Amino acid sequence: MLRIHCPCCGLRDHDEFTLWGDASRAFPGLEAPREQWVQAVYARPNPRGETQEFFQHTLGCRRWLVVTRNNLSHEVLSVQLARQRRVGQAGAQEAQA
Ligand SMILES: [Zn+2]
Repeated sequence: MLRIHCPCCGLRDHDEFTLWGDASRAFPGLEAPREQWVQAVYARPNPRGETQEFFQHTLGCRRWLVVTRNNLSHEVLSVQLARQRRVGQAGAQEAQA
């Protein structure tokens, strides 16, 4: 079982969270060509090891989190509020929730 330490609520089971996908992905600008958008939306890498993912604590504080974890061992390496990510960090435009 994956347990995530929400910065607001403490250690909780993953059942309380909704996974929203890769937090390291960067999207092109709105004026970018269609092919860039197709690549950004549909051509998803499937990395092994350390990953960054968006989770929402849907059965708790409803905050969006960026969880860094190893997807082979399921070890959670860090958790931060998505809104606290630095501007310009990959995926930061998705964090506006
Ligand atoms: Zn929470």
